[in-house]
Amino acid sequence: MAKPVVATASLAGCFGCHMSILDIDERILDLIELVEFHKSPIDDIKTFTKKCDIGIIEGGVCNSENVENLKAFRKNCKILIALGECSIMGGLPAMRNGIPIKECLEEAYLNGVTVEDNLEKILPNDDELPMILDRVYPCHEIVKMDYYLPGCPPRADLIWNALVALIKGTEIDLPYEVVKYD
Ligand code: SF4
Repeated sequence: MAKPVVATASLAGCFGCHMSILDIDERILDLIELVEFHKSPIDDIKTFTKKCDIGIIEGGVCNSENVENLKAFRKNCKILIALGECSIMGGLPAMRNGIPIKECLEEAYLNGVTVEDNLEKILPNDDELPMILDRVYPCHEIVKMDYYLPGCPPRADLIWNALVALIKGTEIDLPYEVVKYD
């Protein structure tokens, strides 16, 4: 029987949720037996060349590239999982949501105490750069999400249990104790 195909992406996240996937330790060998990884930072496959069964999204949506990427995941994955608080509700990056975008950019590139070497006072304006959005959006405000795995990051055991339950078609066990915010 063909293995379910899993894709993952990190949008506006810190890669901590992906690190938590790898924290399943030696069960990664079992996971490789259970699923085939497709587009993901884990295997460095960068484009969809087939439909996937499960898409796992870390991070919220802060720029136009995140929007395109998330829509591509929705189009190519039967099930989409929001992994971690940034994906579920914007997380730490959403702390900028109450501040006007102009002020954020000026603090980051012109006036902040850590700004060095921007003598010409230029804000990044290359056409190649993704357009920053007015605020950081949780994934479900851009596309339909099917499941939410809470935590920052979600525990490795929670990710493992959820993936196995999805693959085997059993109920996901989500007791309160596994929801953790380090
Ligand atoms: Fe990082 Fe936490 Fe956001 Fe995951 S939920 S991307 S660990 S900040």
